[in-house]
Amino acid sequence: MNTRGLYAKFINNVRFHKLLVKYDHDLARVARAQGCHCGGKLHSADYGRKPRGVPANAREFYCKRLSLCCAVDNCRERTTPASLRFLGRRVHVAVTMLLISVMVEGATPQVSELSREFGVDRRTVARWRDWWRTAFVATRFWRAAQADFSPPVDTSHLPACMFARFQGRPLRRLVNLLRFLTPITAGAGAVRVS
Ligand SMILES: [Zn+2]
Repeated sequence: MNTRGLYAKFINNVRFHKLLVKYDHDLARVARAQGCHCGGKLHSADYGRKPRGVPANAREFYCKRLSLCCAVDNCRERTTPASLRFLGRRVHVAVTMLLISVMVEGATPQVSELSREFGVDRRTVARWRDWWRTAFVATRFWRAAQADFSPPVDTSHLPACMFARFQGRPLRRLVNLLRFLTPITAGAGAVRVS
């Protein structure tokens, strides 16, 4: 898979980062409209993030995680909506984790370049690779969602083989894959950090 163009487009494309922010606001609006499980209204309670794996010119798009808090005094429970930018509490942003994981499968020589560029060391890359094959495939989300792929994807090559199934231009495919993964980014389905 040729990922060279994808890498260049991703790091320089402000519109791409803005698109992820827009989707996150949409997801937050949906969560807000649903309200708290106690019946209370939800108010904005965003929190700051110190994102890793983001080029300096894009950091501003990843410094806040949208979050909500119940307005009812006895509840005050926090609801964190799903996100295209953050995979649970993982410090590296979702797109970098995903992109590097896809590129590792392609064994492109750029992986070391990409790791340097985004400040991701080899151990982290290896841990992610392991995560896709063990923790991810064990999630309730994946056990249900894998049926959407026909023929079935080869789970020993996740997430590259999953990415390959999405249609359209590379950036659109990347956005669609991030949207597909949102159920594991927050709430009861949120992934364990590794
Ligand atoms: Zn509540």
